[in-house]
Amino acid sequence: MSERIPTVETFEPIHPKKVKAKSSDNLIHTRSFTGLFRTLRMAGAGFLFLAFFGTVWLNWGGRQAVLWDLAESKFHIFGATFWPQDFILLSALLIICAFGLFAITVFAGRVWCGYTCPQSSFTWLFMWCEKVTEGERNQRIKLQAAPWSLNKLARRSAKHTLWLGISVLTGLTFVGYFTPIRPLAAELLSLQMGGVSLFWVLFFTGATYLNAGWLREAVCMHMCPYARFQSVMFDKDTLTISYDAARGEHRGPRKREVKPSDVGLGDCIDCQLCVQVCPTGIDIRDGLQMECIGCAACIDACDSIMDKMGYARGLVSYTSEHQLQGGKTHLLRPRLIGYSAVLLVMIAALVVALVGRPMVSLDVTKDRGMFRENSQGLIENIYSLKVINKTQQRQDYRLELEDAAGFQLQGKTEISLAPGEISDIPVSVVLLADKPTTSSQTLRFKVTDIDEPWIHSAADSRFVAPMNR
Ligand code: SF4
Ligand code: SF4
Repeated sequence: MSERIPTVETFEPIHPKKVKAKSSDNLIHTRSFTGLFRTLRMAGAGFLFLAFFGTVWLNWGGRQAVLWDLAESKFHIFGATFWPQDFILLSALLIICAFGLFAITVFAGRVWCGYTCPQSSFTWLFMWCEKVTEGERNQRIKLQAAPWSLNKLARRSAKHTLWLGISVLTGLTFVGYFTPIRPLAAELLSLQMGGVSLFWVLFFTGATYLNAGWLREAVCMHMCPYARFQSVMFDKDTLTISYDAARGEHRGPRKREVKPSDVGLGDCIDCQLCVQVCPTGIDIRDGLQMECIGCAACIDACDSIMDKMGYARGLVSYTSEHQLQGGKTHLLRPRLIGYSAVLLVMIAALVVALVGRPMVSLDVTKDRGMFRENSQGLIENIYSLKVINKTQQRQDYRLELEDAAGFQLQGKTEISLAPGEISDIPVSVVLLADKPTTSSQTLRFKVTDIDEPWIHSAADSRFVAPMNR
């Protein structure tokens, strides 16, 4: 006897009805599936979860390897430390990420949403918890409809316990990037966490639990700004996940050995599997929709059906509007080249800025008093030099004036600073001549590493003097 692919028999072969993606409880219960894109997504999400949950526990040189130390206004990332003065680089990095997202969206649509967005990744993880505790799609629909019983209570409790466990871990990890994670975890375990840390851990726990457990696709559809404006970035060559209606219609069930053309059917057997696996509950056969997050679950589902039917894969696939209209997808096109070029230039500029970042910083503040006469009757101005050692080692520095003939720096001119130490050094500058030639002159102060002279920094200030002495 020939094997029949399970199909929904209630559909007329040539007059497809609108598929209801949601069950009668108005919830989306996705069906499990396997396939190439699911494997890719799991590998990507696994890597991101490992990076997110694992990195925070790494140590480097006696401190947490990645830590945005809010109390000290420093951002440590492995061997590098960034100071508030360097945060312009962080802004540049964010702009680069935004441009990267634009470029990838022009090229391949919503791959960010489908594969790497934390909202999607956590939702898939929470859906997996749901499957483990409440069973497959049909079991979950039955459980939802069933009256409360011990079984339902136990399964629901297990699901929410898992969701909450992951949420607490996420909240703790997130806050751990801003407050050292080890003492933070110890405080949480001993129930001694309080104040600001407790507020933020609870906040991110609640956000994870709500967003991934309850809101899910609603976040993508109604709250995410990227979902709203990304369609303007699409062009006719952007890769989107689409159903090949020319090949699939008319849809309808049939036995495997029946040739579709013999019964006036296309390749779609109307099994609804593509709808049942969709996390946003849409039917890809209705065309490109804002709700589609580009997760490719429907491709995997449909390919598995095509394999069973002995048809070619790709009834639902990554394709472009041009390709669907019988043309070719143009990979190199002006908008994509433009985005990529800008992206490359910005990345190169950021690398240059990072490499050339001064590892010692100097700020000069002039004393509020304009000038004074010292004991030798010479004009003197007072300054405070703020020096920051941005390296990971103790360094010895020399302080001096650059190209300032006729002036003398007085006070401490050699200092030694520990890694990350900030020092305020009071100094004075004396005009060696009896009479000034100008009432105000720019002076350049310089700090130079004694052992590594290529590490240096400079800052300007004014020297003022009376003209009518
Ligand atoms: S239509 Fe397909 S690609 Fe889009 S969200 Fe649903 S399953 Fe994912
Ligand atoms: S497109 Fe594929 S998965 Fe969807 S109903 Fe048709 S055959 Fe089934």
